[in-house]
Amino acid sequence: MKTTLIRGGKVVVGQSVSQQDLLIKGERIAALGDLSDLRSDETIDAGGLLVLPGGVDSHVHFNDVFMNTISVHDYYTGTLSAAFGGTTSVIDFSNQSPGTTLMSTIDAKHAEAEGKALVDWGVHPVITQPTDETLAEIPKVVAAGAPTIKCYMTYREEGLLIEEPDLRRIMAKLRDAGGMLLVHAEDNDLAETGIASLLRSGLTSASYHSESKPQAVENKAIEGAIQILREVSGKLFIVHLSSAEGLKMVGTARGEGLNVLAETCTHYIIYTEDMLNREDGLKWICSPPLRDKKTQDQLWEGLRDGRLVQVTSDDAAYSWEATQLGKERFDLCPNGMPGVEPRFNILYSKGVAQDRISLPRFVELIATNPARNFGMYPQKGTLLPGSDADIVLFDPSSKWIMGQASSHSSNDWHAYEGIEITGKIQQVFSRGELIIDGENCMAEMGRGRYLHRQLTRGENSRW
Ligand SMILES: [Zn+2]
Repeated sequence: MKTTLIRGGKVVVGQSVSQQDLLIKGERIAALGDLSDLRSDETIDAGGLLVLPGGVDSHVHFNDVFMNTISVHDYYTGTLSAAFGGTTSVIDFSNQSPGTTLMSTIDAKHAEAEGKALVDWGVHPVITQPTDETLAEIPKVVAAGAPTIKCYMTYREEGLLIEEPDLRRIMAKLRDAGGMLLVHAEDNDLAETGIASLLRSGLTSASYHSESKPQAVENKAIEGAIQILREVSGKLFIVHLSSAEGLKMVGTARGEGLNVLAETCTHYIIYTEDMLNREDGLKWICSPPLRDKKTQDQLWEGLRDGRLVQVTSDDAAYSWEATQLGKERFDLCPNGMPGVEPRFNILYSKGVAQDRISLPRFVELIATNPARNFGMYPQKGTLLPGSDADIVLFDPSSKWIMGQASSHSSNDWHAYEGIEITGKIQQVFSRGELIIDGENCMAEMGRGRYLHRQLTRGENSRW
């Protein structure tokens, strides 16, 4: 087996940050420490660099058919963007369409990834048809390595809404099968009422999007989901949390001993709803909507104190042309923005470089926790001996400007244009293979493997 020695970098493992060597043997990390006497096939001098685990982004939407369009990132362009952004594992969502089984949605993702994926990938099935047949499939999809199922508490018109009685049944099935329920928490009735009242008053531009779904919309759904958890027990994960009150509710519920976790996403921790007032405000329509500065500060607080366990991208890349579906009516704009590539750099730059979070906390939020929470630890998300050699060599002092010119996304606009960034990804390894070397991608299409995940394994059972 080929050996590669990464010498003299500052390696982050758990809470420890120390200068040491790291040996890759084949696809795995073989050793850490002072390995200066060791011979290897290849040696890389990592002096002055950080040696970090590859990012784990458990919230991306590739080939997502949504709101009369389809997301731009497929398994090649999406994972290319991920790889350049230091992310070596992604988990995508597979929506159930009427008349199809959950297993067939996973099969469809295998077909989409075949011959295309550059990094390892997994699937969260999305239940849209909560029939007895669908529910009976839950143990099967859990056993197929997809133990985390998402339900939407809104988007009735898009055919995604799952009502509370069905959420209860789904959570109970997941509890028994060793799975976890993910919810998109926005109350459908409040959202529909809010949107309709603005439209009736002729307030149709992007700038009204946040007002149409204020924090109360999210709070009511989070409260409902936590109540279901209290009654049913099991595991609940709130995706893309963006409300201050919702954050408090999660903290309180965890204090009660309930198994609830929550994440936030890159855009909520650097942008506010003011972005919607720009001429190109449609680009920042996402759900839940961007909030105010005060809420954003509280999200950072949640990332520090543990109420928020990870930062994902919610990558949902829609072309400029697709966003124009919302030109006359904000509620018709496909919700979401591309973010799988910027996530790693933005969280480091705005978090570590600006002293909002520590370097070990950054590693937890970007890699270790998503791996743990979604059943991939310690294979992914850490640099322990035995783990997959998914590694980012990172120059912490380099400064550059993020934007379309330096992006590897196939989308025709960038959500983080012109943002000053501290820290640059130099090399990325995936299972021991150098896949990104500066501006070059060396990965062969289709090398990415399916992540067969299991929540009850090892440290994943720690709640
Ligand atoms: Zn999403």
